[in-house]
Amino acid sequence: MPGTFIDVEVAGEIRDDAALAQALEDACPVDIYAARDGGVEVVEENLDECVLCELCVRAAPAGKLRVRKLYDGTALEA
Ligand code: SF4
Repeated sequence: MPGTFIDVEVAGEIRDDAALAQALEDACPVDIYAARDGGVEVVEENLDECVLCELCVRAAPAGKLRVRKLYDGTALEA
């Protein structure tokens, strides 16, 4: 379930990257990512707290993570 305003898409090939999961958890100021069981978990209840800072997009490999703005159809992506 996405948020009302925001959804994030994490590519399958980076979901099990423990180091990246920790980097995303550390980067996001509103705790949308959690490093759990050696992978990336999206904390769905926090999605709509996103402040569009792009720190997660910059922390992830190009093309592997998108922050979708459901309210206007655009997205933040590297
Ligand atoms: S854009 Fe910023 S606030 Fe939104 S999910 Fe990424 S790191 Fe978190």
